[in-house]
Amino acid sequence: MSVKNNPYALYKLLPGDNCGRCYLPSCMAFAAAVIRGDKRPAECPALEPATLARLDAELQPRQGLKDEQEAAAAELQAQVAALDYVAAAAKVGGWRQGERLAIPCLGKDFYLEPDGRMASQCHVNPWIQLPLLRYVLICRGATATDEWLPFAGLPGGQAGAALFAKRCEEPLRRLADDYGEDFFALLNMFGAVEGKESKADSRVLTFHPLPLVPFRLAYQAPEEGLDSALRISFDRCAEQNANPEMLHFLGTGIAAMLEKILKRQAAC
Ligand code: SF4
Repeated sequence: MSVKNNPYALYKLLPGDNCGRCYLPSCMAFAAAVIRGDKRPAECPALEPATLARLDAELQPRQGLKDEQEAAAAELQAQVAALDYVAAAAKVGGWRQGERLAIPCLGKDFYLEPDGRMASQCHVNPWIQLPLLRYVLICRGATATDEWLPFAGLPGGQAGAALFAKRCEEPLRRLADDYGEDFFALLNMFGAVEGKESKADSRVLTFHPLPLVPFRLAYQAPEEGLDSALRISFDRCAEQNANPEMLHFLGTGIAAMLEKILKRQAAC
């Protein structure tokens, strides 16, 4: 897997010692800094020369993000096209529609053509296309347990939890603070369902960015000098049906999409 724009792939190549010799607190922070362009691989003194050479080769020169995403999508499409869609439909919570594999995602239906290309009534963004293709490849069909895990509680999630909080949970918290009911109404439009435990200042909603990977959003409004809080957790079945990398990509994409829509609505 290419490390370009992918802090998880890059992290897997680092020693994982969190020794701090790069002047950052962890290898994951270093990986994120390299992807942002704030650090160079050579600034990790613990890297093996062969790994360093590989990283330098992959990271220079930088390809355009769009080209990289298209290349990643083409690679995944080729793998998906080799699947038996009848067996895959049962395993991923989808269904066959003619030759196509239909998959519900955020309240909309997405269709995989026999060659792995994706179509939908709405625009197919890379942040939904790439995790959805990966999901079809790795989902084991585990059913929901109603046990909820934070990002850090997923296998392999600990390393990326801070980045997930920064890129997904924190932007969502600000949106909930700024847009209030409009934010929750928009989530409802994308299929989110309010939990019985939800109250006016303490909201709990469940939604399905992937059919067999429920997300739960818990929001506590600010009160008496305390900041608001927002946490995303995942049904334990995510251990079998997804991986942290795709959930990170999906979560940050959802946050960006909601922000764009809410800003557009507010400007009207
Ligand atoms: S110097 Fe290398 S091994 Fe040490 S924390 Fe930084 S990235 Fe990790």
